[in-house]
Amino acid sequence: YFISFEGVDGVGKSTQVELLEHYLQLYGYEVVCTREPGGTELGTVLRQILLDAKSSDMALSEPISDRTEALLFAADRAQHVDTVIRPALERGAVVISDRYVDSSLAYQAGGRGINDAAVRQLQHIAIDGVLPQRTYVLDMSAQQAHQRLQHSDDRMEAAGDTFFNRTRQAFLELAAQDPQRMKVIDASLPVQEVWKSIKQDIDMLLHT
Ligand code: C5P
Repeated sequence: YFISFEGVDGVGKSTQVELLEHYLQLYGYEVVCTREPGGTELGTVLRQILLDAKSSDMALSEPISDRTEALLFAADRAQHVDTVIRPALERGAVVISDRYVDSSLAYQAGGRGINDAAVRQLQHIAIDGVLPQRTYVLDMSAQQAHQRLQHSDDRMEAAGDTFFNRTRQAFLELAAQDPQRMKVIDASLPVQEVWKSIKQDIDMLLHT
């Protein structure tokens, strides 16, 4: 199985990823937990370039354009698929990824406003046919997500609520287009309630 978690910053993805990891391990599965950007060695470098360009050794004096950013995220994904995700799936492991293809569609197309068809074309190359069976979109309001974010220098906060809401809306639209794969989870509820919804769905997935 390949399962991805999606949602805007601050919705609590990593907590739920961890809960699911432990749950599936109890079932006896080999579980590979990974994330984007950054699930590979190259990905770690790309993540640094994309997220802390200002503070890292790789500080650039020029801004990264939106189109370039989309290509860097896609490069991270291609490497992730080829060296981590596909090999793990082929040996029968369950892969859980904190962000995957839908993040690019929501952030780069929805949030930044890059042509949707162009971003999709890029994803076609990046994922090379590897799609999750299940994607959980953790959803909550901009206000609540901001309150939960600990890092005051977070990109989302810098980008503001409009960007947040465009991205959130894009995730919801993607989920509406593919309800079979993508389940929207109300992430405004307490952690255990959120987990209960995911667990219920995962039990169904594993037994069908
Ligand atoms: O979820 P995580 O903190 O790992 O995401 C890293 C950052 O990259 C977030 O601030 C998110 O907004 C951003 N991002 C993005 N486009 C993507 C994936 C992540 O702008 N396709």
